[in-house]
Formats: sequence, structure tokens, C-alpha cells
Amino acid sequence: MLAQRQKLAKGTPYETWLHLFHGKQPGPTVMIVAGIHGKEVGSIRAAQRLVKQLRNQELTINRGTLIIVPVANQPAFKKRVRGKPDLNRTFPRSKSRKATQEMSRALFIIMQNYKPAWYLDLHEANGLSSKSKDVLGQTLITNPGNASVPIVRRIIKQMNKIVNRPSHRFHIRLHKLKGSSRTAAAESIHAKAVTVETCWSLKMNTRIQYQMQMVQHFIREAGLM
Ligand SMILES: [Zn+2]
Repeated sequence: MLAQRQKLAKGTPYETWLHLFHGKQPGPTVMIVAGIHGKEVGSIRAAQRLVKQLRNQELTINRGTLIIVPVANQPAFKKRVRGKPDLNRTFPRSKSRKATQEMSRALFIIMQNYKPAWYLDLHEANGLSSKSKDVLGQTLITNPGNASVPIVRRIIKQMNKIVNRPSHRFHIRLHKLKGSSRTAAAESIHAKAVTVETCWSLKMNTRIQYQMQMVQHFIREAGLM
């Protein structure tokens, strides 16, 4: 496995690392972004740990390419705030429109260049999906009709077998969020596009573990491992 990295949005307050891992065999590309919202720390830590494990070869991919951007919104992460403007409303809202912010522009160019088969956006949210339909904590979100839907349902089943507490179980949500990176990846790149949301009230290490396990399910499903 070959590891590379490059700076995104270089010379701006958003400057951040993009990590690339290439398996020995050809295969699809999976793109993972965390930290679009700066206060969703569990998802950022999970992405950082995955990068560390991959760089140390504790975790390897055999096929294809894995792209990871652990901290998409550096200014917001430094302050541990969601970020203004909300980066997840600045991605192209249709094929004829453009990203309206420098970091979403940089990320969208990466999507266009690599055409990932899978796009995962790591987030955290309020509440537990097992207790209310109105909250997003412990959910996987995709767009209605996205090719990932049956796979997301299967991964949730597998994941819930190893989730000890029934209240922590994951559920699927279908939603088209205009201006989000997920919807841009689904509609403009035709990626299987999924948002992973853990509940930010759980213990940090629990959230990190759920995020890392979810990502590994998807990487395996995509055929990289
Ligand atoms: Zn978020």
C-alpha cells in the first residue's frame, strides 16, 4: 500500500491535509470527509485515528484508493463550533451550479477528479435514533433512491449485532439535503453517498469506535480490503 498526502486549500485559513492510500491492486475509490462541522469531534478523531493506523500499516487496503480528509473545516474545529457559513450548505445545489465557499470548492474538485464510487461524510448529532424519529444521533443518512440504500440497511443490521446497548442502535434516514456534500456527491458524481452520524452525548471513545467500525464496514463493502 502506498501512502501520500497533500495540502488542500493551501495558504487559506482552511488549509488541511488530504490523505491518499493506494492498494496494490486496482479498484474503486472511497472518499471520506470528517470535520465539515468543527464541533463534531468524535467523527474527526475517528478519521484521524484511521489515517494513523493506515500510515502505520496497522490497517491496510489491498485494492483501489482511499481518500481521507480528517478536518475539513479547520477554523471551526479550532473553536469547536459548527462553523459559519455552514460548510454543509455550500456544495453545488445542482449540476449547473457551483460550490460557494473555498473549502467546499476544493473538496468538490477532488470529487470530480477521483469520481469516488463511495463518499462518506462523518458527522455527529443530537439524540438517539432508537428513541425518536426526529433526531439524527446514531443514524446513517443517504438520499432517497441512492444506490447505497440496500447496502446501508445491511451494514446497519451487521453493526447493530455488535452494539451492546439497544439505545445505541443505528437506523437509516433518507433525506435530500440541498447544498450538502452528500447530496452533491450523490447527484453530481453519482456516488453511493452516506452520512455517518454518531450521538455526541455518548462517551468520546464509544463514538470514535462506532465511527471507525462503520467506516471499516463501508471500506470492506466497497471491495478495498
Ligand atoms: Zn454535522
